[in-house]
Amino acid sequence: MSEVLILAEYSQGIVAKTTTELITGGARAGQVTVVVLSDVGGGEDLAKQITQGPATSVLVVESNDFAQYGVAAAAEAISNIVAERKPAALLIGSSAFGKEVAGRVAVATDSGIITDAVDVSAQLVATQLVFGGSTTVHSHVSHGTAIITVRPNSITADVNPSSPAMSKITFDASAQAKLAEVVSSEPFVKGGRPELTEANIVVSGGRGTNGDFVAVETFADVLGAAVGASRAATDAGWYPHALQVGQTGKTVSPQLYVACGISGAIQHRAGMQTSKMIIVVNKDPDAPIFEIADFGVVGDLFAVLPQASDGVRARKS
Ligand SMILES: Cc1cc2nc3c(=O)[nH]c(=O)nc-3n(C[C@H](O)[C@H](O)[C@H](O)COP(=O)(O)OP(=O)(O)OC[C@H]3O[C@@H](n4cnc5c(N)ncnc54)[C@H](O)[C@@H]3O)c2cc1C
Repeated sequence: MSEVLILAEYSQGIVAKTTTELITGGARAGQVTVVVLSDVGGGEDLAKQITQGPATSVLVVESNDFAQYGVAAAAEAISNIVAERKPAALLIGSSAFGKEVAGRVAVATDSGIITDAVDVSAQLVATQLVFGGSTTVHSHVSHGTAIITVRPNSITADVNPSSPAMSKITFDASAQAKLAEVVSSEPFVKGGRPELTEANIVVSGGRGTNGDFVAVETFADVLGAAVGASRAATDAGWYPHALQVGQTGKTVSPQLYVACGISGAIQHRAGMQTSKMIIVVNKDPDAPIFEIADFGVVGDLFAVLPQASDGVRARKS
C-alpha cells in the first residue's frame, strides 16, 4: 500500500485538530505517516498527542534549526524525507507557513502541487473552489509526489482512537537552508476566543456594525465562537486585519458562520461560503448574502443579536 505523509501542525505545544483532518483525508489514499518537526527534546510530547484518526506511524524529526532557520529548514527536512521515501502524497494544512513549505518541497523534489484543496479523494484527486467559490475544480498531480495543502475544517476528522508507532530522527539544515536566520520571535498572545481559521463557529461583523462590535462579540462568546470581520470593517479600523474573512483575508469553513451586517460581496463569500451552515442577520431583505444563507433574520443586528445571546444563554442554563 502506498504511503501518504502528513505534516503535523501545532502551536504552543498543542497539536492542532487540522492534523487529524489531514490524517483522515490521507488515509483514504494510503498508509499515513505523520511527520512532526520539533525542537530537540520536544517531539515525543507532540507525537503522544496524535491519538486520533487512522495514522499508522509518527516520525519525529528533531532539530534546533527549525526555530533558528524557520520555513527553509522545515522545507528541507520534509524534502529529504519525500526524496527518500517517495510517498504517493504529502498533505499539509493550508496556512501561510504550510503553503510556503509545500511550494519549497514541490520545487526541491520536482513534484506537482495543489493548494487550498477542500477535499482529497482515495485517488488523490483534490477538490478546489476557485473564482470566489463559483467554480469547483477537480485536479490530480501527474508528476512526482502529490503535494496538496488542505484548508482547515474541510474534511470531517475521524476521531477514533489510534496508537501509531513512533520513530525519531535528527536533522541538520544545510548551509543553503541557513541563508536567512530568525533573530527573535514572540509567542502569539492567544485571546480567549478560538483561532479564526480553526473555529467550529465564526460570528462576523461588517459595515452594519458601524464600528460597534460589542453585540457581535457577545454573541460569539455565548456560542464559544471566533469573531471575524468584513473588509469594510477592517479597512475602517474597527477590527484587526488579521481577523478579516474573504479573498484578501482568511478563509474559514466552520460548522456555523453567522454574518451580521455584511452584504455578501463576492470577495467576502470567497472566504466563507464553504461553511457548513450560514446564518445571516441583515436589515436589508435584498442583501445578496441571503442567497447563500441557510437561515436569515431580516432585522437590526443591535436588536437581533442581544436577543439571540439571551436565547442561547437561557437554553444553556
Ligand atoms: C480586490 C478586492 C479584495 C477584497 N477582499 C475582501 C475580503 O477579503 N473580505 C471582504 O469582506 N471584502 C473584501 N473586499 C471588499 C468587498 O468588495 C466589499 O466591499 C466588502 O465585503 C463589504 O463589506 P460589508 O458587507 O461589511 O459592507 P457593505 O457592503 O456596506 O454592507 C453592509 C451591510 O450591512 C447591512 N446593515 C447596515 N446596518 C445594519 C444593521 N444595523 N443591522 C443589520 N444589518 C445592517 C446593510 O444592509 C448591508 O447589507 C474586497 C474588494 C476588492 C476589490
